[in-house]
Amino acid sequence: MGALTMFRPQRERDRIRRFSEPATAITRNALASALASARSAYPNEFGGLLRLTGPRLIGELLLLPGTTAGRRHANFQLWMLPADVAIVGTVHSHPSGAVHPSEADLQLFRHWGRRHLILGYPYSERDWLAYDGNGRTIPLTVVDGPRPVAPPAPPRDRAGR
Ligand code: ZN
Repeated sequence: MGALTMFRPQRERDRIRRFSEPATAITRNALASALASARSAYPNEFGGLLRLTGPRLIGELLLLPGTTAGRRHANFQLWMLPADVAIVGTVHSHPSGAVHPSEADLQLFRHWGRRHLILGYPYSERDWLAYDGNGRTIPLTVVDGPRPVAPPAPPRDRAGR
């Protein structure tokens, strides 16, 4: 009894630990698809979820079932949240162009999630800000793809010498 828990492989424990660290970066693709969704929802708001695809790296955008794009507010149905430790926060758009959180946004941020993006019209690649769970702006680096987890192996001598 309890052996499975006791002998959970070290790499699995490492994976869980690393995925519990707050994100510091987002892939260009994930950001671009969020901005594209915001543009297509305009003049309504768009809402989605941010998912990690690597340690500290947001690389996936999820549309939450039941999230309605209202003219004034994207309503997050958080009770429909999938049980997924890699989902770390929310993204939504502001057709007004403002990228600061509303009072309702701050309540949402404090309630759940550690990373939140607000996208402001006209949704260019600079029209957004990232916030932590307390509604404070945080830097989020845009990267071209998943960063390597370990340094790449040295090139092998193809001639076998
Ligand atoms: Zn908002």
